[in-house]
Amino acid sequence: MARAIYPGTFDPVTNGHVDIVERASHTVDHLTVGVVEVSSKRTMFNVDERIKMFAEAVAHLPNVTVESYTGLTVNAAREIDASVIIRGLRITSDFEYESEMALMNRRMAEDVETICLFSALEYQILSSSRVKEVAALGADVSDLVPKNVWGPLVEKLEQRKASSNN
Ligand code: ADP
Repeated sequence: MARAIYPGTFDPVTNGHVDIVERASHTVDHLTVGVVEVSSKRTMFNVDERIKMFAEAVAHLPNVTVESYTGLTVNAAREIDASVIIRGLRITSDFEYESEMALMNRRMAEDVETICLFSALEYQILSSSRVKEVAALGADVSDLVPKNVWGPLVEKLEQRKASSNN
């Protein structure tokens, strides 16, 4: 068994992400969720908020930790001694991007293997961006994100609305 990293933006974490983490955590010794640090202008939640929400959602999994990283995922993997990169694959949308990324990562680091887990059927059309999009238009999609995420999401949307009205 190995140590693995599950990298992503997770803006915010959804039930699809948590499902991947739960399943991956049963197949490796230790899993680090790597929350990529990007300019907070490009995300709804800053990196600390994204880490906090993900950490709360996987607090029941003893061999999972959540950390931020910057730069190349393969470098982040090496830094924490992970030999596996975990990715989630939705059947229709992810194959091309994920296979290109895996091949590029392999080119840079042959010792780090990418392992893709297929998304569960109920999460195939779930993405952070779709959740934000429909929630902003007033839909209640609280059943698609962990319990601790819905409150902060609604709060952010209200803040945005208030600042765009000013
Ligand atoms: P990225 O910025 O890398 O696309 P995301 O936070 O969108 O980050 O996703 C991180 C990983 O989780 C990716 O491998 C993505 O394909 C996977 N993923 C996203 N949504 C789902 C889902 N609903 N079910 C399974 N995997 C998912």
